[in-house]
Amino acid sequence: MEVETSETTKHQEFVGVDLGINHLATLSTGEIFDGVRSYKKYESKLARMQYLNRHKQKGSNNYRKACVNIARLHQKIANIRKDTLHKITTYISKNHAVIGIEDLNVSGMLANGKLSKAIADMGFYELRRQLEYKTQLYGSKLVIVDRFYPSSKTCSHCGEKKTSLSLSQRVFKCDHCGFECDRDVNAAINLKQEAVRLTVLACGLDSADTFRMKQEEKAGIC
Ligand SMILES: [Zn+2]
Repeated sequence: MEVETSETTKHQEFVGVDLGINHLATLSTGEIFDGVRSYKKYESKLARMQYLNRHKQKGSNNYRKACVNIARLHQKIANIRKDTLHKITTYISKNHAVIGIEDLNVSGMLANGKLSKAIADMGFYELRRQLEYKTQLYGSKLVIVDRFYPSSKTCSHCGEKKTSLSLSQRVFKCDHCGFECDRDVNAAINLKQEAVRLTVLACGLDSADTFRMKQEEKAGIC
């Protein structure tokens, strides 16, 4: 693997990354990365293979062959997913010095039946895990923004916070200053700004490559 850590590759120092269902990752630069919904794509194929296998005699040659094919399909799905995530996380870690990302409550989201499949499929957790070690590898820094920080509801232009914002609203429109922006890009810009703020706060206190700022710690820093 090619490893570049020179400063020239970090074309924009700070970046915010918003993770979502619509697009896997939206950057504050406006770049969008779509996840390969690999499981969904092969789901019916897998289900059919598993169904057909139920009618085969256990231990028979046909049964064993089918088991191998099912395992192969599982592996294929896992590989596609991994490959997509690696491309995204390498790109982000190599091109930015400080990366702000929301601290997602993955287990909480998985309890929500409707979204759980899509979220699990997109691999938020894996993306975060890869960012954690790749930022160390490429000499950048990952800033985990508190998950209660209202990145979606806040106007990235004037800082005004909306009281409500439904998931169906794809465009963020500020009632205060009139700023209009793609919802995910607005959230990503806020995450970037929060990463800047937290980095300034933590400056000199924490030189670790990855650090986490909790709400209660913030108050006592300056
Ligand atoms: Zn505004």
